[in-house]
Amino acid sequence: MEFRVGKAVLRLVQGDITEQETEAIVNAANPSLMGGGGVDGAIHRKGGPTIREECARIRERDWPDGLPVGEAVITSGGRLKARYVIHTVGPIWRGGNKREPQMLARAYRSSLQLAVSRGIRTISFPSISTGAYGYPVEKASRVALKTVKEFLEKEDRLEEVRFVLFTEGDLRVYEEAARELFG
Ligand code: ADP
Repeated sequence: MEFRVGKAVLRLVQGDITEQETEAIVNAANPSLMGGGGVDGAIHRKGGPTIREECARIRERDWPDGLPVGEAVITSGGRLKARYVIHTVGPIWRGGNKREPQMLARAYRSSLQLAVSRGIRTISFPSISTGAYGYPVEKASRVALKTVKEFLEKEDRLEEVRFVLFTEGDLRVYEEAARELFG
Protein backbone atom coordinates (compact mmCIF):
# COMPACT_ATOMS: atom_id res chain seq x y z
CA MET A 1 0.00 0.00 0.00
CA GLU A 2 1.29 3.51 -0.71
CA PHE A 3 0.29 7.13 -0.32
CA ARG A 4 1.62 10.40 -1.68
CA VAL A 5 2.47 12.98 0.96
CA GLY A 6 3.80 16.21 -0.49
CA LYS A 7 6.60 15.19 -2.84
CA ALA A 8 7.24 11.89 -1.08
CA VAL A 9 5.74 8.43 -1.14
CA LEU A 10 4.85 6.67 2.11
CA ARG A 11 4.91 2.92 1.55
CA LEU A 12 3.81 0.04 3.77
CA VAL A 13 5.32 -3.38 3.08
CA GLN A 14 5.74 -6.70 4.85
CA GLY A 15 9.35 -7.88 5.10
CA ASP A 16 12.72 -7.88 6.77
CA ILE A 17 14.20 -4.43 7.29
CA THR A 18 17.75 -5.76 6.94
CA GLU A 19 16.97 -6.58 3.28
CA GLN A 20 15.80 -3.09 2.31
CA GLU A 21 17.75 -1.13 -0.27
CA THR A 22 16.69 2.32 0.91
CA GLU A 23 19.64 4.61 1.65
CA ALA A 24 18.97 4.33 5.37
CA ILE A 25 17.21 1.87 7.63
CA VAL A 26 16.18 2.69 11.17
CA ASN A 27 17.08 0.48 14.11
CA ALA A 28 14.78 0.17 17.12
CA ALA A 29 17.78 0.19 19.44
CA ASN A 30 18.09 0.30 23.21
CA PRO A 31 20.00 3.04 25.06
CA SER A 32 23.22 0.99 25.25
CA LEU A 33 23.50 0.93 21.43
CA MET A 34 25.31 -2.37 21.92
CA GLY A 35 22.74 -4.55 20.22
CA GLY A 36 19.94 -6.68 21.58
CA GLY A 37 17.11 -8.84 20.32
CA GLY A 38 14.49 -8.27 17.66
CA VAL A 39 15.26 -5.90 14.85
CA ASP A 40 18.38 -4.63 16.66
CA GLY A 41 19.94 -8.10 16.79
CA ALA A 42 19.08 -8.76 13.15
CA ILE A 43 20.71 -5.49 11.99
CA HIS A 44 23.94 -6.09 13.92
CA ARG A 45 24.14 -9.75 12.81
CA LYS A 46 23.71 -8.96 9.16
CA GLY A 47 25.54 -5.61 9.14
CA GLY A 48 28.68 -6.97 10.80
CA PRO A 49 30.97 -5.59 13.51
CA THR A 50 31.67 -2.13 12.11
CA ILE A 51 28.21 -0.90 13.12
CA ARG A 52 28.82 -1.89 16.74
CA GLU A 53 32.27 -0.28 16.69
CA GLU A 54 30.78 2.98 15.43
CA CYS A 55 28.06 2.75 18.10
CA ALA A 56 30.71 2.28 20.79
CA ARG A 57 32.50 5.42 19.61
CA ILE A 58 29.25 7.40 19.62
CA ARG A 59 28.56 6.21 23.18
CA GLU A 60 32.03 7.27 24.33
CA ARG A 61 31.99 10.61 22.59
CA ASP A 62 28.40 11.80 22.82
CA TRP A 63 26.26 9.60 25.05
CA PRO A 64 28.33 8.00 27.83
CA ASP A 65 25.17 7.30 29.84
CA GLY A 66 23.31 5.82 26.87
CA LEU A 67 21.13 7.23 24.12
CA PRO A 68 18.00 8.80 25.64
CA VAL A 69 14.53 7.75 24.48
CA GLY A 70 13.49 9.79 21.46
CA GLU A 71 17.04 10.65 20.27
CA ALA A 72 18.69 9.26 17.13
CA VAL A 73 22.26 8.71 15.91
CA ILE A 74 23.68 7.49 12.61
CA THR A 75 26.29 4.91 11.61
CA SER A 76 27.27 3.29 8.36
CA GLY A 77 25.32 0.25 7.20
CA GLY A 78 28.29 -2.10 7.31
CA ARG A 79 27.52 -5.07 5.09
CA LEU A 80 23.84 -4.16 4.70
CA LYS A 81 22.39 -2.97 1.41
CA ALA A 82 21.45 0.27 3.14
CA ARG A 83 24.31 2.76 3.29
CA TYR A 84 23.32 4.04 6.74
CA VAL A 85 21.67 2.82 9.91
CA ILE A 86 19.88 5.37 12.05
CA HIS A 87 19.61 4.12 15.63
CA THR A 88 16.80 5.46 17.76
CA VAL A 89 15.27 4.44 21.07
CA GLY A 90 11.53 4.18 21.44
CA PRO A 91 9.67 4.25 24.76
CA ILE A 92 8.88 1.19 26.84
CA TRP A 93 5.08 0.89 27.15
CA ARG A 94 4.06 1.61 30.73
CA GLY A 95 0.29 1.77 30.30
CA GLY A 96 0.01 4.87 28.12
CA ASN A 97 0.09 7.67 30.70
CA LYS A 98 3.85 8.14 30.80
CA ARG A 99 4.12 10.26 27.65
CA GLU A 100 4.67 7.18 25.53
CA PRO A 101 2.98 8.70 22.43
CA GLN A 102 5.09 11.87 22.64
CA MET A 103 8.27 9.83 23.10
CA LEU A 104 7.43 7.52 20.21
CA ALA A 105 6.67 10.48 17.94
CA ARG A 106 9.97 12.05 18.95
CA ALA A 107 11.89 8.87 18.00
CA TYR A 108 10.37 9.00 14.49
CA ARG A 109 10.95 12.76 14.13
CA SER A 110 14.56 12.61 15.34
CA SER A 111 15.30 9.84 12.84
CA LEU A 112 13.67 11.74 9.97
CA GLN A 113 15.44 14.98 10.90
CA LEU A 114 18.82 13.24 11.06
CA ALA A 115 18.18 11.62 7.68
CA VAL A 116 17.35 14.97 6.10
CA SER A 117 20.39 16.63 7.67
CA ARG A 118 22.57 13.98 5.99
CA GLY A 119 20.92 14.36 2.61
CA ILE A 120 19.28 10.94 2.77
CA ARG A 121 16.25 10.66 0.49
CA THR A 122 14.91 7.16 1.15
CA ILE A 123 14.47 5.54 4.55
CA SER A 124 12.87 2.41 6.05
CA PHE A 125 11.38 2.16 9.53
CA PRO A 126 10.46 -0.88 11.59
CA SER A 127 7.54 -0.74 14.00
CA ILE A 128 9.46 0.95 16.82
CA SER A 129 8.61 -0.13 20.40
CA THR A 130 6.01 -2.78 19.48
CA GLY A 131 8.24 -5.81 20.15
CA ALA A 132 10.17 -6.22 23.39
CA TYR A 133 9.10 -2.71 24.48
CA GLY A 134 5.44 -3.77 24.53
CA TYR A 135 3.75 -0.77 22.86
CA PRO A 136 0.38 -1.96 21.48
CA VAL A 137 0.76 -2.02 17.71
CA GLU A 138 -2.69 -0.50 17.01
CA LYS A 139 -1.75 2.56 19.05
CA ALA A 140 1.87 2.71 17.86
CA SER A 141 0.86 2.51 14.19
CA ARG A 142 -1.31 5.62 14.49
CA VAL A 143 1.44 7.62 16.17
CA ALA A 144 4.06 6.41 13.68
CA LEU A 145 2.03 7.20 10.56
CA LYS A 146 0.72 10.54 11.79
CA THR A 147 4.22 11.67 12.77
CA VAL A 148 5.68 10.72 9.40
CA LYS A 149 2.77 12.29 7.51
CA GLU A 150 3.14 15.59 9.38
CA PHE A 151 6.90 15.58 8.83
CA LEU A 152 6.54 14.97 5.08
CA GLU A 153 3.97 17.72 4.77
CA LYS A 154 6.61 20.23 5.89
CA GLU A 155 9.79 18.68 4.48
CA ASP A 156 10.18 18.10 0.76
CA ARG A 157 13.70 16.65 0.69
CA LEU A 158 12.63 13.06 1.42
CA GLU A 159 11.47 10.91 -1.52
CA GLU A 160 10.34 7.74 0.23
CA VAL A 161 9.51 6.66 3.75
CA ARG A 162 8.89 2.93 3.98
CA PHE A 163 7.43 1.04 6.92
CA VAL A 164 8.68 -2.54 6.93
CA LEU A 165 6.38 -4.71 9.00
CA PHE A 166 7.73 -8.06 10.01
CA THR A 167 4.41 -9.92 10.19
CA GLU A 168 1.31 -9.95 8.04
CA GLY A 169 -0.72 -9.06 11.14
CA ASP A 170 1.34 -5.95 11.79
CA LEU A 171 1.08 -4.94 8.12
CA ARG A 172 -2.73 -5.21 8.34
CA VAL A 173 -2.78 -3.06 11.47
CA TYR A 174 -0.62 -0.37 9.83
CA GLU A 175 -2.74 -0.48 6.66
CA GLU A 176 -5.92 0.02 8.68
CA ALA A 177 -4.35 2.96 10.53
CA ALA A 178 -3.19 4.44 7.22
CA ARG A 179 -6.70 4.16 5.72
CA GLU A 180 -8.10 6.05 8.70
CA LEU A 181 -5.38 8.70 8.57
CA PHE A 182 -5.52 9.27 4.80
CA GLY A 183 -9.29 8.86 4.55
P1 ADP B 1 11.41 -2.65 20.48
O1 ADP B 1 12.41 -3.01 21.56
O2 ADP B 1 11.51 -1.21 20.05
O3 ADP B 1 10.03 -3.09 20.82
P2 ADP B 1 11.81 -4.99 18.72
O4 ADP B 1 12.93 -5.23 17.79
O5 ADP B 1 11.65 -5.90 19.88
O6 ADP B 1 11.94 -3.44 19.18
O7 ADP B 1 10.45 -5.01 17.91
C1 ADP B 1 10.05 -3.99 17.05
C2 ADP B 1 9.34 -4.58 15.85
O8 ADP B 1 10.31 -5.05 14.93
C3 ADP B 1 8.44 -5.77 16.17
O9 ADP B 1 7.21 -5.57 15.49
C4 ADP B 1 9.19 -6.95 15.56
O10 ADP B 1 8.30 -7.95 15.10
C5 ADP B 1 9.88 -6.28 14.40
N1 ADP B 1 11.04 -6.98 13.81
C6 ADP B 1 11.85 -7.92 14.34
N2 ADP B 1 12.80 -8.27 13.47
C7 ADP B 1 12.59 -7.54 12.33
C8 ADP B 1 13.21 -7.43 11.05
N3 ADP B 1 14.28 -8.18 10.72
N4 ADP B 1 12.69 -6.56 10.14
C9 ADP B 1 11.62 -5.79 10.44
N5 ADP B 1 11.00 -5.84 11.63
C10 ADP B 1 11.47 -6.70 12.56
